[in-house]
Amino acid sequence: MNKIVVLIGAPGAGKGTQARLLEERKGIPQISTGDMFREMKTLDTPLAREVQEIMRSGKLVPDEVTYRMVKDRTSRDDCRGGYILDGYPRTAVQAEQLEGLATEQGFEILAIEVDVPREELMRRLTGRRSCPVCGEIYNIYSKPPKVEGRCDLHPEAELAHRADDNEESVGTRLATYDEQTKPLIDYYANSGRLSKVSGTGSLEDIYAELEKLVLRRIIN
Ligand code: AMP
Repeated sequence: MNKIVVLIGAPGAGKGTQARLLEERKGIPQISTGDMFREMKTLDTPLAREVQEIMRSGKLVPDEVTYRMVKDRTSRDDCRGGYILDGYPRTAVQAEQLEGLATEQGFEILAIEVDVPREELMRRLTGRRSCPVCGEIYNIYSKPPKVEGRCDLHPEAELAHRADDNEESVGTRLATYDEQTKPLIDYYANSGRLSKVSGTGSLEDIYAELEKLVLRRIIN
């Protein structure tokens, strides 16, 4: 693939779900900074505690911390053929840092905006649940599990509601997105590296559109 696919979209746009599908079906590693930060929950270090606090509030973890984590993770062998970034970059500084990393690693960047109307996002975020064992994402409104509150594959585990999916944090996360991340859409568009998919409709329709873009060799 030889590229870094950057998925840009507001919280709740479905980037994570789609990136996971691409990983499952196409074997392209999905790197989610949000997932990596959530995994730090089990660590009892000052940095891990600080990250948890920032996440709970809906604000962003400092750029340097985030960059170091992305650089480490994408330096592993499985990323040699390219990878998908879900939730990174989220600020102008991060976008700049990613340019350097892409050059170092010899990859081109393809940004894809996953577009979902604002009214829909709130419902999606507050209805979101995930399996603590495999990370599968459900939604009590649009993608309920077969048995209420239980993962289809790990029924022993009760589905979890993310600590930052409450209304207050969701408000902060959407505002942070508007202020800091949304400008990156123009940044990638202006350099001819942006494509767009609609994030509404069926999971499979969105996936089909996304897969086409990701696998396309020549970016128009
Ligand atoms: P997500 O799962 O992508 O919605 O991320 C959850 C939370 O992790 C965000 O609200 C931030 O606190 C933190 N986070 C994830 N990605 C980044 C990033 N690229 N830069 C800074 N903070 C991030």
